[in-house]
Amino acid sequence: MIKNGQALRTHNQNNLYYLLLTFIFLILTITFIVTKDFTEKKVNAESVNTPVTSSIKNSLHVNTPVQTSNKKDDKNTYDAAKISALLSYKEKNDGRKIAFLTFDDGPSTTVTPQILDILKQFNIKATFFLVGENIEMNEKSKELVKRVFNEGHSIGNHTYSHNRGNMLFPKKKVNVPVFMEDIKKTDEALKTVLGPEFSTKILRLPGGYMSRTYYRDPNLPELNANLKKENMISIDWNVESKDAVGKKNKSASELFNILKQEIGMKSKVIILLHDTYGKMHTASALPQLIEYLKGQGYEFKTIK
Ligand SMILES: [Zn+2]
Repeated sequence: MIKNGQALRTHNQNNLYYLLLTFIFLILTITFIVTKDFTEKKVNAESVNTPVTSSIKNSLHVNTPVQTSNKKDDKNTYDAAKISALLSYKEKNDGRKIAFLTFDDGPSTTVTPQILDILKQFNIKATFFLVGENIEMNEKSKELVKRVFNEGHSIGNHTYSHNRGNMLFPKKKVNVPVFMEDIKKTDEALKTVLGPEFSTKILRLPGGYMSRTYYRDPNLPELNANLKKENMISIDWNVESKDAVGKKNKSASELFNILKQEIGMKSKVIILLHDTYGKMHTASALPQLIEYLKGQGYEFKTIK
């Protein structure tokens, strides 16, 4: 049995504990309010009057989730679903002249920086379909992915392996589970570099979706269903520089002449170019191509 004296002491001790706990709680609440207010003011101050790129850069550096440029709606972007429909003639062309520069197979530490410099010089935004293996090649390549993103270009998925060892399309048929795993790997590589909030819905198949149609790939319905489930849209092209097919190491003027011919009278041009290793001539042909398109009255937009 507890004696009265003991009970009183315990009672007094409890009161003391409650007082102490209340005091600690009060201190913590005040600290929280003050810190929160300060942080909010700081964030607001940063977002006011700072260019978009620098605020993205800041958020990258402090490791807060990044706002994906692919979700952001700005005047430079064009809806991927519309382009897909246009390419398959399912959408009526409105006649507006728009050029979409798309660069596949990067990043490369040799050509991508040159391409980015030229695009910056002309203040033009493009779309880069990146290969997972090239993203993860080294620290420099990862930095380039950040640069592509920070400079306002759109980023798309071009698989992780780029069909190395014919693992994606054995016997000319897409292996759907392997393919989906491969694009997931690139998505993860992008999230590792750009932050967990990054996502892209645009995809370019190695060889293009048109190759799968050409081979009458029996697994296409399965692929389509999977891409739809993942909200991914495949984007092909209607103009190519042939910098990766036919005669090797075409000169800048050879590439430009091919492009000019392919552009012809098309009003929407989705131009396939490559910024991977060894494609220096593509970078050299780019200023001439941009000047030509501008002269012909094309606007430049990215695909998102
Ligand atoms: Zn490719």
